[in-house]
Amino acid sequence: MTKRTDAKPALQLAGALDLSPAPESCPAPIKSRYGHFIGGEFVDGDDHFTTVNPATGEVLAEVAAGSDETVDQAVKAARKAADGVWGKMSGADRGKFLYRIARRIQERSRELAVLETIDNGKPIRETRDVDIPLAAQHFFYYAGWADKLQYAVPGGNPTPLGVAGQVIPWNFPFLMASWKLAPALATGNTVVLKPAETTPLSAMLLAEILQEVDLPPGVINIVNGAGRTGGAVMGHPDIDKVAFTGSTNVGRIIMRQIAGSKKKATMELGGKGAHIVFADASLDQAVEGCINGIFFNQGHVCCAGSRLLVEESIAEEFLERLKRRVEVLRIGNPLDKNTDIGAINSVKQLGTINKYLDIGKNEGANVWQSPCPVPDKGFFLPPTIMSGVQQTDTVVREEIFGPVLSVLTFRTPAEAIKKANDTEYGLAAGVWSEKNSKLFEVAHALNAGIVWANGYNLFDPASPFGGVRHSGFGREGGIAGLWAYMGGIS
Ligand code: NAP
Ligand code: MG
Repeated sequence: MTKRTDAKPALQLAGALDLSPAPESCPAPIKSRYGHFIGGEFVDGDDHFTTVNPATGEVLAEVAAGSDETVDQAVKAARKAADGVWGKMSGADRGKFLYRIARRIQERSRELAVLETIDNGKPIRETRDVDIPLAAQHFFYYAGWADKLQYAVPGGNPTPLGVAGQVIPWNFPFLMASWKLAPALATGNTVVLKPAETTPLSAMLLAEILQEVDLPPGVINIVNGAGRTGGAVMGHPDIDKVAFTGSTNVGRIIMRQIAGSKKKATMELGGKGAHIVFADASLDQAVEGCINGIFFNQGHVCCAGSRLLVEESIAEEFLERLKRRVEVLRIGNPLDKNTDIGAINSVKQLGTINKYLDIGKNEGANVWQSPCPVPDKGFFLPPTIMSGVQQTDTVVREEIFGPVLSVLTFRTPAEAIKKANDTEYGLAAGVWSEKNSKLFEVAHALNAGIVWANGYNLFDPASPFGGVRHSGFGREGGIAGLWAYMGGIS
Protein backbone atom coordinates (compact mmCIF):
# COMPACT_ATOMS: atom_id res chain seq x y z
CA MET A 1 0.00 0.00 0.00
CA THR A 2 1.27 3.49 -0.79
CA LYS A 3 0.56 6.10 1.83
CA ARG A 4 -0.56 9.32 0.23
CA THR A 5 1.68 11.92 1.78
CA ASP A 6 0.02 15.03 0.39
CA ALA A 7 -2.92 14.81 2.75
CA LYS A 8 -3.69 14.34 6.42
CA PRO A 9 -3.72 10.76 7.72
CA ALA A 10 -6.91 8.74 7.44
CA LEU A 11 -9.00 8.16 10.53
CA GLN A 12 -9.29 4.51 11.40
CA LEU A 13 -12.94 3.52 11.56
CA ALA A 14 -12.71 0.64 13.96
CA GLY A 15 -10.13 1.96 16.38
CA ALA A 16 -8.81 -0.98 18.39
CA LEU A 17 -10.41 -3.63 16.16
CA ASP A 18 -8.03 -5.78 14.14
CA LEU A 19 -8.70 -4.83 10.54
CA SER A 20 -5.71 -6.58 9.01
CA PRO A 21 -6.57 -7.86 5.55
CA ALA A 22 -8.61 -11.04 5.60
CA PRO A 23 -8.99 -11.90 1.94
CA GLU A 24 -11.66 -14.34 0.83
CA SER A 25 -10.12 -17.81 0.65
CA CYS A 26 -12.57 -19.68 -1.58
CA PRO A 27 -10.70 -20.61 -4.76
CA ALA A 28 -12.40 -19.09 -7.77
CA PRO A 29 -12.69 -21.65 -10.54
CA ILE A 30 -10.84 -19.73 -13.26
CA LYS A 31 -9.84 -21.57 -16.42
CA SER A 32 -6.97 -20.36 -18.58
CA ARG A 33 -9.13 -20.11 -21.70
CA TYR A 34 -12.82 -19.53 -22.40
CA GLY A 35 -14.86 -19.90 -25.57
CA HIS A 36 -18.60 -19.43 -26.03
CA PHE A 37 -21.69 -21.33 -24.90
CA ILE A 38 -23.84 -22.27 -27.89
CA GLY A 39 -26.59 -24.89 -28.20
CA GLY A 40 -25.88 -26.12 -24.67
CA GLU A 41 -22.16 -26.76 -25.37
CA PHE A 42 -18.94 -24.88 -24.72
CA VAL A 43 -17.29 -24.10 -28.05
CA ASP A 44 -13.91 -22.50 -28.69
CA GLY A 45 -13.25 -19.52 -30.96
CA ASP A 46 -10.44 -18.45 -33.27
CA ASP A 47 -9.40 -15.03 -31.95
CA HIS A 48 -8.89 -14.39 -28.26
CA PHE A 49 -8.52 -11.38 -25.98
CA THR A 50 -7.61 -11.32 -22.28
CA THR A 51 -9.55 -10.38 -19.18
CA VAL A 52 -7.57 -8.99 -16.24
CA ASN A 53 -7.96 -8.65 -12.51
CA PRO A 54 -8.25 -4.86 -12.08
CA ALA A 55 -7.01 -5.05 -8.49
CA THR A 56 -3.63 -6.39 -9.65
CA GLY A 57 -3.48 -5.82 -13.40
CA GLU A 58 -2.76 -9.55 -13.87
CA VAL A 59 -4.22 -11.48 -16.79
CA LEU A 60 -6.86 -13.94 -15.59
CA ALA A 61 -7.77 -15.78 -18.77
CA GLU A 62 -7.98 -15.71 -22.55
CA VAL A 63 -11.47 -15.27 -23.90
CA ALA A 64 -12.74 -15.91 -27.42
CA ALA A 65 -13.95 -12.97 -29.50
CA GLY A 66 -17.13 -14.01 -31.30
CA SER A 67 -17.12 -13.55 -35.08
CA ASP A 68 -20.19 -12.93 -37.25
CA GLU A 69 -20.26 -16.69 -37.95
CA THR A 70 -20.22 -17.50 -34.23
CA VAL A 71 -23.07 -15.07 -33.62
CA ASP A 72 -24.97 -16.66 -36.50
CA GLN A 73 -24.52 -20.14 -34.99
CA ALA A 74 -25.79 -18.84 -31.64
CA VAL A 75 -28.85 -17.20 -33.23
CA LYS A 76 -29.62 -20.42 -35.14
CA ALA A 77 -29.41 -22.43 -31.90
CA ALA A 78 -31.69 -19.91 -30.18
CA ARG A 79 -34.19 -20.01 -33.08
CA LYS A 80 -34.31 -23.80 -32.99
CA ALA A 81 -35.08 -23.74 -29.26
CA ALA A 82 -37.64 -20.94 -29.68
CA ASP A 83 -39.51 -22.83 -32.41
CA GLY A 84 -39.04 -26.16 -30.69
CA VAL A 85 -38.67 -27.32 -27.13
CA TRP A 86 -38.82 -23.95 -25.34
CA GLY A 87 -41.56 -22.43 -27.45
CA LYS A 88 -43.75 -25.51 -26.94
CA MET A 89 -43.10 -25.90 -23.21
CA SER A 90 -45.82 -24.93 -20.72
CA GLY A 91 -45.23 -21.86 -18.57
CA ALA A 92 -45.27 -24.05 -15.46
CA ASP A 93 -42.42 -26.16 -16.84
CA ARG A 94 -40.43 -23.10 -17.91
CA GLY A 95 -40.90 -21.80 -14.38
CA LYS A 96 -39.38 -24.99 -12.97
CA PHE A 97 -36.18 -24.37 -14.96
CA LEU A 98 -36.02 -20.79 -13.66
CA TYR A 99 -36.43 -22.03 -10.08
CA ARG A 100 -33.64 -24.55 -10.64
CA ILE A 101 -31.32 -21.85 -12.02
CA ALA A 102 -32.13 -19.61 -9.03
CA ARG A 103 -31.40 -22.37 -6.53
CA ARG A 104 -28.17 -23.37 -8.25
CA ILE A 105 -27.05 -19.71 -8.21
CA GLN A 106 -27.63 -19.75 -4.46
CA GLU A 107 -25.71 -23.00 -4.07
CA ARG A 108 -22.74 -21.69 -6.07
CA SER A 109 -23.06 -18.13 -4.75
CA ARG A 110 -19.68 -18.08 -3.02
CA GLU A 111 -17.80 -19.08 -6.18
CA LEU A 112 -19.82 -16.60 -8.19
CA ALA A 113 -19.10 -13.79 -5.73
CA VAL A 114 -15.35 -14.47 -5.68
CA LEU A 115 -15.15 -14.83 -9.45
CA GLU A 116 -17.11 -11.63 -10.04
CA THR A 117 -14.96 -9.73 -7.57
CA ILE A 118 -11.72 -10.95 -9.17
CA ASP A 119 -12.86 -10.17 -12.73
CA ASN A 120 -14.60 -6.87 -11.98
CA GLY A 121 -12.71 -5.35 -9.02
CA LYS A 122 -15.81 -4.73 -6.88
CA PRO A 123 -15.65 -5.51 -3.14
CA ILE A 124 -16.54 -9.04 -2.08
CA ARG A 125 -19.05 -7.57 0.38
CA GLU A 126 -21.05 -6.26 -2.59
CA THR A 127 -20.91 -9.39 -4.73
CA ARG A 128 -21.62 -11.60 -1.71
CA ASP A 129 -24.41 -9.52 -0.16
CA VAL A 130 -25.95 -7.68 -3.11
CA ASP A 131 -25.15 -8.78 -6.67
CA ILE A 132 -25.38 -12.56 -6.45
CA PRO A 133 -28.33 -12.82 -4.00
CA LEU A 134 -30.24 -10.23 -6.03
CA ALA A 135 -29.51 -12.14 -9.24
CA ALA A 136 -30.98 -15.31 -7.68
CA GLN A 137 -34.01 -13.29 -6.55
CA HIS A 138 -34.63 -12.15 -10.12
CA PHE A 139 -34.80 -15.75 -11.30
CA PHE A 140 -37.09 -16.66 -8.37
CA TYR A 141 -39.33 -13.66 -9.06
CA TYR A 142 -39.75 -14.36 -12.80
CA ALA A 143 -40.07 -18.12 -12.18
CA GLY A 144 -43.24 -17.22 -10.30
CA TRP A 145 -44.62 -15.36 -13.31
CA ALA A 146 -43.93 -18.06 -15.92
CA ASP A 147 -47.29 -19.87 -15.42
CA LYS A 148 -49.30 -16.69 -14.67
CA LEU A 149 -48.62 -14.61 -17.76
CA GLN A 150 -52.32 -14.25 -18.55
CA TYR A 151 -52.50 -12.01 -15.46
CA ALA A 152 -49.64 -9.80 -16.67
CA VAL A 153 -51.68 -8.39 -19.56
CA PRO A 154 -55.43 -8.05 -20.09
CA GLY A 155 -57.11 -10.25 -22.66
CA GLY A 156 -55.46 -13.65 -22.80
CA ASN A 157 -52.18 -15.50 -23.09
CA PRO A 158 -49.29 -13.38 -24.33
CA THR A 159 -46.95 -14.91 -26.89
CA PRO A 160 -43.15 -14.59 -26.81
CA LEU A 161 -41.31 -12.34 -29.25
CA GLY A 162 -38.91 -15.12 -30.29
CA VAL A 163 -35.12 -14.68 -30.09
CA ALA A 164 -33.73 -11.88 -27.94
CA GLY A 165 -30.24 -10.42 -28.41
CA GLN A 166 -28.94 -9.03 -25.13
CA VAL A 167 -25.79 -6.95 -24.61
CA ILE A 168 -24.68 -6.07 -21.08
CA PRO A 169 -22.06 -3.82 -19.41
CA TRP A 170 -19.24 -4.58 -16.97
CA ASN A 171 -20.45 -2.79 -13.85
CA PHE A 172 -22.83 -5.51 -12.59
CA PRO A 173 -22.01 -8.38 -14.95
CA PHE A 174 -23.89 -11.24 -13.31
CA LEU A 175 -26.77 -9.12 -12.06
CA MET A 176 -27.33 -7.47 -15.45
CA ALA A 177 -27.32 -10.90 -17.11
CA SER A 178 -29.97 -12.07 -14.64
CA TRP A 179 -32.12 -8.95 -15.11
CA LYS A 180 -32.19 -9.71 -18.81
CA LEU A 181 -32.34 -13.51 -18.92
CA ALA A 182 -34.99 -14.21 -16.29
CA PRO A 183 -37.91 -12.23 -17.83
CA ALA A 184 -36.95 -13.35 -21.36
CA LEU A 185 -37.11 -17.01 -20.37
CA ALA A 186 -40.22 -16.67 -18.24
CA THR A 187 -42.11 -15.31 -21.25
CA GLY A 188 -40.93 -18.13 -23.55
CA ASN A 189 -38.17 -16.33 -25.48
CA THR A 190 -34.70 -17.68 -26.16
CA VAL A 191 -31.56 -15.60 -25.91
CA VAL A 192 -28.15 -14.74 -27.34
CA LEU A 193 -26.26 -12.86 -24.61
CA LYS A 194 -23.05 -10.84 -25.13
CA PRO A 195 -21.23 -10.10 -21.85
CA ALA A 196 -18.87 -7.13 -21.53
CA GLU A 197 -15.31 -7.56 -22.70
CA THR A 198 -13.70 -6.87 -19.31
CA THR A 199 -16.02 -9.10 -17.27
CA PRO A 200 -16.95 -12.29 -19.12
CA LEU A 201 -16.17 -14.85 -16.41
CA SER A 202 -19.33 -14.96 -14.31
CA ALA A 203 -21.43 -15.50 -17.46
CA MET A 204 -19.25 -18.51 -18.24
CA LEU A 205 -19.92 -19.89 -14.75
CA LEU A 206 -23.62 -19.29 -15.37
CA ALA A 207 -23.28 -21.44 -18.50
CA GLU A 208 -22.02 -24.28 -16.28
CA ILE A 209 -25.08 -23.80 -14.09
CA LEU A 210 -27.34 -23.98 -17.16
CA GLN A 211 -25.79 -27.34 -18.05
CA GLU A 212 -26.17 -28.54 -14.47
CA VAL A 213 -29.91 -27.79 -14.46
CA ASP A 214 -30.35 -29.38 -17.92
CA LEU A 215 -31.73 -26.24 -19.50
CA PRO A 216 -32.64 -27.35 -23.05
CA PRO A 217 -29.87 -26.58 -25.58
CA GLY A 218 -30.15 -23.21 -27.31
CA VAL A 219 -32.43 -21.51 -24.77
CA ILE A 220 -29.52 -19.35 -23.53
CA ASN A 221 -26.47 -18.88 -25.76
CA ILE A 222 -23.52 -16.77 -24.65
CA VAL A 223 -21.15 -15.27 -27.18
CA ASN A 224 -18.11 -13.48 -25.80
CA GLY A 225 -16.42 -10.57 -27.48
CA ALA A 226 -16.03 -6.82 -27.69
CA GLY A 227 -18.29 -4.15 -29.20
CA ARG A 228 -18.04 -5.64 -32.69
CA THR A 229 -19.56 -8.90 -31.47
CA GLY A 230 -22.28 -6.94 -29.68
CA GLY A 231 -23.05 -5.14 -32.94
CA ALA A 232 -23.27 -8.48 -34.76
CA VAL A 233 -25.83 -9.73 -32.20
CA MET A 234 -27.97 -6.57 -32.32
CA GLY A 235 -27.87 -6.41 -36.12
CA HIS A 236 -28.49 -10.10 -36.85
CA PRO A 237 -31.58 -10.32 -39.10
CA ASP A 238 -33.10 -13.22 -37.14
CA ILE A 239 -33.10 -11.42 -33.77
CA ASP A 240 -36.63 -10.30 -32.81
CA LYS A 241 -35.78 -8.16 -29.84
CA VAL A 242 -32.73 -6.25 -28.70
CA ALA A 243 -32.13 -5.51 -25.03
CA PHE A 244 -29.16 -3.29 -24.32
CA THR A 245 -27.63 -1.95 -21.14
CA GLY A 246 -24.67 0.36 -21.55
CA SER A 247 -23.70 3.87 -22.50
CA THR A 248 -26.02 6.33 -24.21
CA ASN A 249 -23.54 6.62 -27.09
CA VAL A 250 -23.60 2.91 -27.90
CA GLY A 251 -27.38 2.90 -27.37
CA ARG A 252 -27.64 5.52 -30.12
CA ILE A 253 -25.45 3.41 -32.44
CA ILE A 254 -27.69 0.39 -31.89
CA MET A 255 -30.90 2.39 -32.43
CA ARG A 256 -29.51 3.63 -35.75
CA GLN A 257 -28.46 0.08 -36.63
CA ILE A 258 -31.93 -1.41 -36.08
CA ALA A 259 -33.92 1.54 -37.47
CA GLY A 260 -36.37 0.33 -40.11
CA SER A 261 -36.28 -3.29 -38.88
CA LYS A 262 -39.13 -4.95 -36.99
CA LYS A 263 -36.95 -5.53 -33.94
CA LYS A 264 -38.41 -4.49 -30.59
CA ALA A 265 -35.95 -2.70 -28.31
CA THR A 266 -35.33 -1.75 -24.71
CA MET A 267 -32.46 0.56 -23.80
CA GLU A 268 -31.03 0.96 -20.29
CA LEU A 269 -28.50 3.75 -20.72
CA GLY A 270 -26.44 6.25 -18.76
CA GLY A 271 -27.40 8.67 -16.02
CA LYS A 272 -26.38 11.66 -13.91
CA GLY A 273 -28.55 11.19 -10.84
CA ALA A 274 -29.40 14.17 -8.65
CA HIS A 275 -29.29 13.54 -4.91
CA ILE A 276 -31.19 16.32 -3.12
CA VAL A 277 -30.64 16.96 0.59
CA PHE A 278 -32.93 19.43 2.34
CA ALA A 279 -31.92 21.20 5.55
CA ASP A 280 -34.66 19.38 7.47
CA ALA A 281 -33.27 15.93 6.59
CA SER A 282 -31.70 13.60 9.12
CA LEU A 283 -28.17 14.61 8.23
CA ASP A 284 -26.37 11.51 9.53
CA GLN A 285 -28.65 9.29 7.46
CA ALA A 286 -28.37 11.57 4.44
CA VAL A 287 -24.57 11.39 4.65
CA GLU A 288 -24.73 7.58 4.59
CA GLY A 289 -27.24 7.73 1.74
CA CYS A 290 -25.05 10.03 -0.33
CA ILE A 291 -22.01 7.82 0.24
CA ASN A 292 -23.99 4.77 -0.82
CA GLY A 293 -25.36 6.77 -3.75
CA ILE A 294 -21.99 7.60 -5.29
CA PHE A 295 -19.31 5.32 -3.82
CA PHE A 296 -21.17 1.99 -3.99
CA ASN A 297 -19.47 -0.14 -6.68
CA GLN A 298 -16.77 2.57 -7.15
CA GLY A 299 -19.46 4.80 -8.66
CA HIS A 300 -19.73 2.44 -11.65
CA VAL A 301 -23.50 2.63 -11.32
CA CYS A 302 -25.81 3.97 -14.02
CA CYS A 303 -28.22 5.31 -11.39
CA ALA A 304 -25.45 6.71 -9.13
CA GLY A 305 -26.29 9.90 -7.24
CA SER A 306 -23.36 11.70 -8.85
CA ARG A 307 -24.76 15.24 -8.41
CA LEU A 308 -25.30 16.21 -4.80
CA LEU A 309 -27.72 19.14 -4.45
CA VAL A 310 -27.60 20.34 -0.86
CA GLU A 311 -29.63 23.17 0.66
CA GLU A 312 -27.37 26.21 0.99
CA SER A 313 -28.02 26.77 4.72
CA ILE A 314 -26.46 23.39 5.64
CA ALA A 315 -24.07 23.00 2.71
CA GLU A 316 -20.86 23.73 4.60
CA GLU A 317 -21.71 21.51 7.56
CA PHE A 318 -22.96 18.71 5.31
CA LEU A 319 -19.83 18.73 3.18
CA GLU A 320 -17.65 18.58 6.30
CA ARG A 321 -19.63 15.63 7.68
CA LEU A 322 -19.48 13.92 4.31
CA LYS A 323 -15.70 14.29 4.06
CA ARG A 324 -15.18 13.04 7.62
CA ARG A 325 -17.16 9.93 6.80
CA VAL A 326 -15.56 9.39 3.39
CA GLU A 327 -12.10 9.58 4.98
CA VAL A 328 -12.72 6.35 6.87
CA LEU A 329 -13.86 4.33 3.86
CA ARG A 330 -11.33 1.60 3.17
CA ILE A 331 -10.03 1.30 -0.36
CA GLY A 332 -8.06 -1.76 -1.36
CA ASN A 333 -8.10 -5.50 -1.97
CA PRO A 334 -11.61 -6.27 -3.24
CA LEU A 335 -11.38 -9.79 -1.80
CA ASP A 336 -10.98 -8.38 1.73
CA LYS A 337 -14.38 -8.35 3.40
CA ASN A 338 -13.52 -5.06 5.14
CA THR A 339 -12.96 -3.22 1.86
CA ASP A 340 -15.49 -0.49 1.09
CA ILE A 341 -14.11 0.64 -2.26
CA GLY A 342 -12.51 -1.77 -4.70
CA ALA A 343 -10.70 -1.32 -7.99
CA ILE A 344 -11.75 0.72 -11.00
CA ASN A 345 -12.80 -1.86 -13.57
CA SER A 346 -10.20 -1.14 -16.23
CA VAL A 347 -7.20 1.02 -16.94
CA LYS A 348 -9.29 2.62 -19.69
CA GLN A 349 -12.05 3.61 -17.24
CA LEU A 350 -9.45 4.94 -14.79
CA GLY A 351 -8.11 7.11 -17.61
CA THR A 352 -11.62 8.40 -18.38
CA ILE A 353 -12.22 9.32 -14.73
CA ASN A 354 -8.84 11.06 -14.43
CA LYS A 355 -9.61 12.99 -17.60
CA TYR A 356 -12.79 14.29 -15.92
CA LEU A 357 -10.83 15.25 -12.79
CA ASP A 358 -8.52 17.35 -14.99
CA ILE A 359 -11.51 18.92 -16.74
CA GLY A 360 -13.04 19.71 -13.33
CA LYS A 361 -9.82 21.37 -12.13
CA ASN A 362 -9.59 23.41 -15.34
CA GLU A 363 -13.19 24.51 -14.91
CA GLY A 364 -12.38 25.77 -11.40
CA ALA A 365 -13.66 22.94 -9.20
CA ASN A 366 -12.22 22.32 -5.73
CA VAL A 367 -11.16 18.69 -6.05
CA TRP A 368 -10.92 16.90 -2.70
CA GLN A 369 -9.74 13.29 -2.44
CA SER A 370 -9.83 11.06 0.59
CA PRO A 371 -6.36 10.70 2.15
CA CYS A 372 -6.92 6.95 2.54
CA PRO A 373 -4.03 4.63 1.67
CA VAL A 374 -4.27 3.42 -1.92
CA PRO A 375 -2.75 0.13 -3.21
CA ASP A 376 0.33 0.67 -5.33
CA LYS A 377 -0.67 -1.81 -8.04
CA GLY A 378 -3.95 -2.29 -9.87
CA PHE A 379 -6.39 0.44 -10.90
CA PHE A 380 -7.51 2.48 -7.89
CA LEU A 381 -8.84 5.96 -7.27
CA PRO A 382 -9.62 7.48 -3.85
CA PRO A 383 -13.18 8.71 -3.33
CA THR A 384 -13.34 12.21 -4.78
CA ILE A 385 -15.59 15.21 -4.12
CA MET A 386 -15.74 18.24 -6.42
CA SER A 387 -17.24 21.37 -4.91
CA GLY A 388 -17.46 24.92 -6.20
CA VAL A 389 -18.88 23.64 -9.49
CA GLN A 390 -21.55 25.22 -11.69
CA GLN A 391 -24.56 23.74 -13.40
CA THR A 392 -22.90 24.34 -16.79
CA ASP A 393 -19.62 22.54 -15.93
CA THR A 394 -18.74 19.39 -17.83
CA VAL A 395 -18.34 17.38 -14.62
CA VAL A 396 -21.90 18.31 -13.64
CA ARG A 397 -23.37 17.48 -17.05
CA GLU A 398 -21.53 14.36 -18.20
CA GLU A 399 -21.53 10.87 -16.72
CA ILE A 400 -18.12 10.17 -15.12
CA PHE A 401 -18.94 6.61 -14.01
CA GLY A 402 -16.50 6.57 -11.14
CA PRO A 403 -16.22 7.46 -7.41
CA VAL A 404 -16.57 11.18 -8.05
CA LEU A 405 -19.28 13.36 -6.51
CA SER A 406 -20.06 16.88 -7.77
CA VAL A 407 -21.60 19.19 -5.18
CA LEU A 408 -24.05 22.02 -5.93
CA THR A 409 -26.32 24.05 -3.68
CA PHE A 410 -29.89 25.40 -3.82
CA ARG A 411 -32.10 27.71 -1.76
CA THR A 412 -35.68 26.60 -2.50
CA PRO A 413 -37.39 23.34 -3.51
CA ALA A 414 -38.19 24.92 -6.89
CA GLU A 415 -34.51 25.65 -7.48
CA ALA A 416 -33.56 22.11 -6.45
CA ILE A 417 -36.08 20.64 -8.91
CA LYS A 418 -34.96 22.93 -11.71
CA LYS A 419 -31.30 22.06 -11.24
CA ALA A 420 -32.00 18.34 -10.82
CA ASN A 421 -33.99 18.24 -14.06
CA ASP A 422 -31.46 20.32 -15.99
CA THR A 423 -29.74 17.29 -17.55
CA GLU A 424 -30.10 15.26 -20.72
CA TYR A 425 -30.44 12.13 -18.58
CA GLY A 426 -33.37 10.86 -16.52
CA LEU A 427 -32.55 7.59 -14.82
CA ALA A 428 -32.61 8.09 -11.06
CA ALA A 429 -32.76 10.68 -8.30
CA GLY A 430 -32.94 10.81 -4.52
CA VAL A 431 -34.52 13.19 -2.00
CA TRP A 432 -33.84 13.55 1.74
CA SER A 433 -36.27 15.37 4.02
CA GLU A 434 -38.12 14.64 7.24
CA LYS A 435 -41.23 16.23 5.74
CA ASN A 436 -43.30 13.73 3.77
CA SER A 437 -45.27 16.33 1.83
CA LYS A 438 -41.99 17.80 0.58
CA LEU A 439 -40.71 14.34 -0.38
CA PHE A 440 -43.82 13.61 -2.45
CA GLU A 441 -43.97 17.03 -4.05
CA VAL A 442 -40.32 17.02 -5.10
CA ALA A 443 -40.25 13.36 -6.15
CA HIS A 444 -43.29 13.97 -8.34
CA ALA A 445 -41.61 16.90 -10.07
CA LEU A 446 -38.35 15.07 -10.81
CA ASN A 447 -37.85 13.86 -14.35
CA ALA A 448 -36.38 10.44 -13.63
CA GLY A 449 -37.41 6.81 -14.01
CA ILE A 450 -36.67 6.05 -10.35
CA VAL A 451 -36.83 8.38 -7.35
CA TRP A 452 -35.76 7.19 -3.91
CA ALA A 453 -36.95 9.03 -0.82
CA ASN A 454 -34.70 8.93 2.27
CA GLY A 455 -32.68 6.13 0.71
CA TYR A 456 -30.66 5.40 -2.42
CA ASN A 457 -29.62 2.47 -4.62
CA LEU A 458 -32.36 0.22 -3.26
CA PHE A 459 -33.30 -2.59 -5.64
CA ASP A 460 -36.04 -5.20 -5.70
CA PRO A 461 -36.95 -7.65 -8.47
CA ALA A 462 -40.61 -6.65 -8.16
CA SER A 463 -39.83 -3.00 -8.80
CA PRO A 464 -39.46 -1.69 -12.36
CA PHE A 465 -36.16 -0.03 -13.27
CA GLY A 466 -35.43 2.17 -16.28
CA GLY A 467 -35.00 5.69 -17.51
CA VAL A 468 -36.51 8.55 -19.47
CA ARG A 469 -34.91 10.89 -22.02
CA HIS A 470 -31.30 9.93 -22.85
CA SER A 471 -31.27 7.32 -20.09
CA GLY A 472 -33.28 5.03 -22.34
CA PHE A 473 -36.71 3.41 -22.53
CA GLY A 474 -38.41 0.22 -21.43
CA ARG A 475 -38.30 -1.29 -17.95
CA GLU A 476 -36.52 -4.21 -16.35
CA GLY A 477 -37.90 -5.75 -13.16
CA GLY A 478 -41.47 -6.18 -11.99
CA ILE A 479 -44.45 -6.86 -14.20
CA ALA A 480 -43.22 -4.21 -16.66
CA GLY A 481 -40.11 -6.33 -17.20
CA LEU A 482 -42.36 -9.02 -18.72
CA TRP A 483 -44.00 -6.66 -21.20
CA ALA A 484 -40.65 -6.00 -22.85
CA TYR A 485 -40.57 -9.65 -23.99
CA MET A 486 -44.18 -10.21 -25.00
CA GLY A 487 -45.61 -10.24 -28.50
CA GLY A 488 -49.33 -10.55 -29.22
CA ILE A 489 -52.15 -12.28 -27.33
CA SER A 490 -53.09 -15.84 -28.33
P1 NAP B 1 -20.73 0.48 -23.30
O1 NAP B 1 -19.40 0.89 -23.74
O2 NAP B 1 -21.90 1.10 -23.94
O3 NAP B 1 -20.77 -1.10 -23.45
C1 NAP B 1 -21.89 -1.87 -23.05
C2 NAP B 1 -21.87 -3.16 -23.81
O4 NAP B 1 -22.05 -2.89 -25.21
C3 NAP B 1 -20.56 -3.94 -23.71
O5 NAP B 1 -20.84 -5.31 -23.75
C4 NAP B 1 -19.85 -3.48 -24.99
O6 NAP B 1 -18.82 -4.34 -25.40
C5 NAP B 1 -20.99 -3.46 -25.96
N1 NAP B 1 -20.80 -2.64 -27.14
C6 NAP B 1 -19.88 -1.66 -27.38
N2 NAP B 1 -20.06 -1.13 -28.61
C7 NAP B 1 -21.11 -1.78 -29.16
C8 NAP B 1 -21.79 -1.69 -30.40
N3 NAP B 1 -21.43 -0.80 -31.33
N4 NAP B 1 -22.84 -2.50 -30.62
C9 NAP B 1 -23.25 -3.37 -29.69
N5 NAP B 1 -22.64 -3.53 -28.50
C10 NAP B 1 -21.59 -2.73 -28.24
O7 NAP B 1 -20.94 0.73 -21.76
P2 NAP B 1 -20.01 0.25 -20.59
O8 NAP B 1 -18.85 1.16 -20.54
O9 NAP B 1 -19.76 -1.20 -20.67
O10 NAP B 1 -20.98 0.46 -19.34
C11 NAP B 1 -21.14 1.70 -18.77
C12 NAP B 1 -22.38 2.39 -19.25
O11 NAP B 1 -23.51 1.56 -19.06
C13 NAP B 1 -22.65 3.63 -18.46
O12 NAP B 1 -23.00 4.68 -19.33
C14 NAP B 1 -23.81 3.26 -17.58
O13 NAP B 1 -24.58 4.33 -17.17
C15 NAP B 1 -24.54 2.30 -18.43
N6 NAP B 1 -25.37 1.41 -17.61
C16 NAP B 1 -26.72 1.60 -17.62
C17 NAP B 1 -27.55 0.81 -16.83
C18 NAP B 1 -29.03 1.01 -16.82
O14 NAP B 1 -29.73 0.13 -16.36
N7 NAP B 1 -29.54 2.13 -17.28
C19 NAP B 1 -26.99 -0.19 -16.04
C20 NAP B 1 -25.61 -0.37 -16.05
C21 NAP B 1 -24.81 0.45 -16.86
P3 NAP B 1 -17.35 -4.07 -24.77
O15 NAP B 1 -17.39 -4.61 -23.40
O16 NAP B 1 -16.39 -4.75 -25.63
O17 NAP B 1 -17.14 -2.58 -24.81
MG1 MG C 1 -11.76 -8.40 -15.91
